Amino acid sequence: MRAVVLAWLLAVFCWSPLPAAEARVVQLPGAEVRVEFDEAVPREQQPLLLEWVAQSGRAVAAYYSGRFPVPEATLLIFSRAGRSVSGGYATGWNGPRARITVGREASRADLLEDDWMLTHEFIHFGFPGVPDQHHWLEEGIACYVEPVARVRLGVLDARRMWAEFVSEMPQGQPQPGDHGLDRTPTWARTYWGGAIFCLLADVEIRRQTDNRRGLEDALRAIVAAGGSIERSWPLARALAVGDAATGTTVLRDLHARLGPNPEAVDLEALWRSLGVVKRGRRQVEFDDSAPLAAVRRAITAGRP
Ligand SMILES: [Zn+2]
Repeated sequence: MRAVVLAWLLAVFCWSPLPAAEARVVQLPGAEVRVEFDEAVPREQQPLLLEWVAQSGRAVAAYYSGRFPVPEATLLIFSRAGRSVSGGYATGWNGPRARITVGREASRADLLEDDWMLTHEFIHFGFPGVPDQHHWLEEGIACYVEPVARVRLGVLDARRMWAEFVSEMPQGQPQPGDHGLDRTPTWARTYWGGAIFCLLADVEIRRQTDNRRGLEDALRAIVAAGGSIERSWPLARALAVGDAATGTTVLRDLHARLGPNPEAVDLEALWRSLGVVKRGRRQVEFDDSAPLAAVRRAITAGRP
């Protein structure tokens, strides 16, 4: 029995990866992210991965008033063949932690220009866990804010963002037999239905406040009130804190409509009013004479 224990101890000390030796700290505005590389991550890829972590973190910090939404977080990076980024996941259990898998052949452009997933996972750090039936709001915020944050940082073109919204958001519309967002936990309704909710909220807050407030004010206030991924909140609390920050009842009202009811949103009319004009497949042009063109510009311009 003792020999077995000794063999186990030897195995642990001799063969297990040494996370401390493979860990790095990325400094972000208002935060430190500890990055732990799995032993399969090539050493020569690590500088590029750290640059990618820093860029993704800066995009999120810029959206949240210039500060990353949590002061400390841990990111585990795993490795696989190919070029893709996959398997992103964020949790607040045992501190803000995320994991992600990166292809060993991922290029600089794959990570710094095309990847959305790490920014998406970091955005999850800035919202509390809400009961399961409202999970669509956690994913909707991450889906909607991710490209907005990257456009604001200057690493994603605004036309590409709007073209993506125009082509992907219709997936979030209710299908026959669907209920409201609170009772239809499908992939499309959770991610893109949640993103439609956030876009509608952002536009409506800006419309009602003459562009002085936006969804970011609501989300920043939720973080400032302690609503990070480490906490669990009732949905009503998050909506109330967000609404108070914008001086509106947009979040509460929108949830009262889209939470229980399978209401289809007139996205075509929304694109027209924002001045987003489809031009061919996955391409858009902007019409600055549209009634809400200033709202469209403010969404991606942001302000300090
Ligand atoms: Zn997510």
